[in-house]
Amino acid sequence: MALTGIQILKMLPKKNCGECSIPTCLAFAMKVAAGQVEIDTCPYVSDEAKATIGEASAPPIRTLKLGNGDNAFTAGGETCMYRHEKRFVNPTGIAVLVTTDMDEAAVSGRIDRFNTLVYERVGVIMKAELIAVKDSKNDEASFTALVQKVLDGSARAALILISDTPAHLAAAAKVCGARIPLLYGATADNAAAMAQVAKDCSAPLAVKGSNLDNCVDVTNTLLAAGLKDLAIDTGARTLRAAFEDNVVARRSAVKAKFKPLGFPTLTFPCEMSDDPMMEAMIASIMIAKYAGIIVLSDLQGDILFPLLLERMNIFTDPQRPMVVTEDVYPLTGPGEDSPVVITCNFSLTYFIVSGEIEGSKVPTWLLIKDTEGLSVLTAWAAGKFGADMIAQFVKKSGIEDKVKHRDLIIPGYLASLKGELEEELPAWNIIIGPREAGHLPVFLKEWKPSKPL
Ligand code: SF4
Repeated sequence: MALTGIQILKMLPKKNCGECSIPTCLAFAMKVAAGQVEIDTCPYVSDEAKATIGEASAPPIRTLKLGNGDNAFTAGGETCMYRHEKRFVNPTGIAVLVTTDMDEAAVSGRIDRFNTLVYERVGVIMKAELIAVKDSKNDEASFTALVQKVLDGSARAALILISDTPAHLAAAAKVCGARIPLLYGATADNAAAMAQVAKDCSAPLAVKGSNLDNCVDVTNTLLAAGLKDLAIDTGARTLRAAFEDNVVARRSAVKAKFKPLGFPTLTFPCEMSDDPMMEAMIASIMIAKYAGIIVLSDLQGDILFPLLLERMNIFTDPQRPMVVTEDVYPLTGPGEDSPVVITCNFSLTYFIVSGEIEGSKVPTWLLIKDTEGLSVLTAWAAGKFGADMIAQFVKKSGIEDKVKHRDLIIPGYLASLKGELEEELPAWNIIIGPREAGHLPVFLKEWKPSKPL
């Protein structure tokens, strides 16, 4: 059961030293209770208290880490049923399947597409994270060779190793070295041997259940064997069954704190349909309804991109607007005679405005002022995009050293700020830009410095 802030406070050293970057132990305890800070952040807390608090404050869906370094992939860690209750934490991992009975070209094509299908959207990089390698011939040599090929072919892929033979998984996991794979799959028959392999490799293990009840039996066996890092495949291979199982598993873990189902789920849309569009539709539902990882038969841009976009929307924190960093952004190679445009740091605004500027091919300096993610008018109304703040930012931004002219183009919606801004920035001419970003290209093409350079 979760501990309250006061219960956690009783286990803290109460030095109020602030070394955890929080001024008091009470405030720290409240944040730990709310799941906003890890207990490890306090350097003085005892190991015993760490274990007690860590266990009590752990999310009901256990967090799994695969891969290593900058390319580590994290699944699970979820704490709620619905995004609006709090937020969804770790985006569903997208995996592509390669098998030992695929020919060379099929495998290489999938690895190539895994590496190249990378997109940027509102400053966020979107891509598939995992490659599932299946020992479909039940042959150790070809399985380990394929694992090696995937490791060599993609430096960033986290791996799922799929085999019915524990010894093959052990050999393949050894090939992976520091890139921790997810081992799949433990059944009622092989649970003991699989548990031993997972322990020896220090790798998480996925349960391959035949239904939800069977999954519970196998996870209980693995938990009793001392394993903690598990994932579950309930064995469902129809949309309806997979949907139901995912919802039941999440509800059981989050609402009833039922530990045997408190693990990220592994789902296989690739085994639910031969039709790529149907497979994509199933994958999209699994992303929305609680899959920790989905395994696809292939990656194609027209299918992957919408799935990535859906995933980004679902896993964006609804309580925090997406922002870009306050800075001066040079777009299409501006020089000292290029126009200077300013706007807010709401991601959507930035990407719409920068997109229009880049589309116009007019080299431009784009000043992005931190408005805490609020859009132009909202930021102005909230007192975060006033003349004094804009002036302060313009002065410290260094733009005065980058251009010879002194024209500052402000959003059309802030026309009322012109007078105030001219007082705050007496060296600058305040030019009222268009209200809509779509009108920027024509505006910029027609812009000439107010005073000759
Ligand atoms: S570092 Fe530990 S002792 Fe210091 S204020 Fe934070 S919680 Fe309290």
